[in-house]
Amino acid sequence: MAYAPVVITDLKQWFEKRHFIKRQGKKIGFVPTMGALHQGHLSLLEKSRRENEVTVLSIYVNPTQFDNKEDLAKYPLTLERDKTLAHKAEVDFLLAPTFEQIYPDKYRYKVSESDFSSKLCGSHRPGHFDGVLTVVMKLLNIVQADRAYFGEKDFQQLELVRGMVEAFFLTTEIVPCPIVREEDGLAMSSRNVNLSAEARSLASRFPAALRDSLSASEAKARLKLEGFEVDYVEDIGTRRLGAVKVGGVRLIDNVER
Ligand code: AMP
Repeated sequence: MAYAPVVITDLKQWFEKRHFIKRQGKKIGFVPTMGALHQGHLSLLEKSRRENEVTVLSIYVNPTQFDNKEDLAKYPLTLERDKTLAHKAEVDFLLAPTFEQIYPDKYRYKVSESDFSSKLCGSHRPGHFDGVLTVVMKLLNIVQADRAYFGEKDFQQLELVRGMVEAFFLTTEIVPCPIVREEDGLAMSSRNVNLSAEARSLASRFPAALRDSLSASEAKARLKLEGFEVDYVEDIGTRRLGAVKVGGVRLIDNVER
């Protein structure tokens, strides 16, 4: 196995490392996450390892993207376990910055998008995508990677990040990665650990309803009947996207139609 990743909590230390990596002409792949790593995150890291000489993982639970304090409070934090997984995944650098480091401006400056971000998840989570886009902009500027890897699981996020990179002439290439699922079809998510046994067994019916219904409205009706609280199910282009709550946990997913 490779060396354990260099864990960086002080960004100045990263800026020095970055300087040397760039001087050596090495390509940097970047995987931003909120930690509580699972196979979905690991698939992004594997792709980055294959395509770049240096892989940087960030673990930062970004408070500005949580519209709901309770959701933030119960977000799983598993840094020690994550470090072990990052080591196995042969991550070179693990950035675990503090709020003060990421937000020296105390979130006075924001990136916002004025159209797609207010739809789907945006219409149920006010301010969510301002928080997401702002932290991704900061992280992309901090890491200055050649490529950054984002999961199609968060499809709306991926589209908004792609749009932001284009709009602001950022130079990092955004690489989309397919959704990794549990055996019963549930998309892997850090929040899945918060599901009760009962909610967990119901949860696999969410992707099934998205996949097997003839229309978005049929999927919505089916999910309601099965006991989900449905935020939305909508067809956008060739995809069907949905968000539901089950046992107090919010799940999102999307399938190719
Ligand atoms: P998160 O830690 O939930 O913010 O996710 C970090 C990155 O991993 C995002 O780009 C997600 O889209 C991606 N990701 C999360 N879950 C999955 C999954 N099941 N399959 C593929 N990518 C995922």
